[in-house]
Amino acid sequence: MRRLGVHTSIAGGLPKSLERARALGCSTLQIFSHNPRSWALTDIPEEEARMFRRLREKLDLDPVFIHACYLVNLTSADPLVREKSLRMLAEEFRRADLIGADYVLLHAGQPAGLPALGQTASGRTGPGPRSGVPGYESLVKSLKTALGGGGKRFRAGLLLENTAFRLQSPGPAASSIKALALAAADSGAAGVCLDTCHAFASGYDIRTMADIEEIARQTEGVKIRLIHLNDSKGGIGSGLDRHEHLGRGRIGLEALRRLLRFGPFKDKPLVLETPKKEASDDPMNLETARMLLANNRSQKEIVSF
Ligand SMILES: [Zn+2]
Ligand SMILES: [Zn+2]
Repeated sequence: MRRLGVHTSIAGGLPKSLERARALGCSTLQIFSHNPRSWALTDIPEEEARMFRRLREKLDLDPVFIHACYLVNLTSADPLVREKSLRMLAEEFRRADLIGADYVLLHAGQPAGLPALGQTASGRTGPGPRSGVPGYESLVKSLKTALGGGGKRFRAGLLLENTAFRLQSPGPAASSIKALALAAADSGAAGVCLDTCHAFASGYDIRTMADIEEIARQTEGVKIRLIHLNDSKGGIGSGLDRHEHLGRGRIGLEALRRLLRFGPFKDKPLVLETPKKEASDDPMNLETARMLLANNRSQKEIVSF
């Protein structure tokens, strides 16, 4: 059975996130380990961590993903921010290990103030994702430091997630995901997380098989451990990180269905990060996702949903 889940809230304590996921019929989940927009941290009491580990086993929620704090910026021009970021990322890993989470996810597609990975400062795609990519070397170096320089400092694995940052030359020539995959491989990360909204907004037209295949090529040699299944409010190459309900955005159900069933993306765990304004939103999007995964549905039924 393919693992399917949502990002759930930790309000009321970390174990509550598991109960929320289970109530929605999920088999995996993603959480923040604390307020993702703040540097402030409070400790996770050992008892709460133990409860989380026990309940997670009992409910068979697997894998558990922690989305790192949004403030982490390993390539900031400000050395103080870089220092704080390294400490925060290490803290995310400590927390992951404490509660038995499997992976920590980090946005790393765009070193701050620099063009997206895979582009030169002039906006053109460079001769190769490793060369001529501002910020690439320092990102990999920082990731290695955070991961303990090759040593197995933490049990949880690091996943790099592609961002919505707009490429100036969208289409199959775009190579930001390629650079991300290389950064993951070069730094010793466990793999990558592919966000469908971010891919589309950054310039990959995943409504076409050509670009779906291109992403598959660009991620060869690295493990795709997770797909963030989101539709996009913004158009192709808009650079807008605005997630939409499945089928109500600019990507559409048919494209998402094709991507989910395509070779290297098949069978990967899925986590939805779709809008949550109403209590009915998660059940609605999960139902749509299940429908996309069901083999016995005709294309016509899906399109008319
Ligand atoms: Zn993310
Ligand atoms: Zn995402």
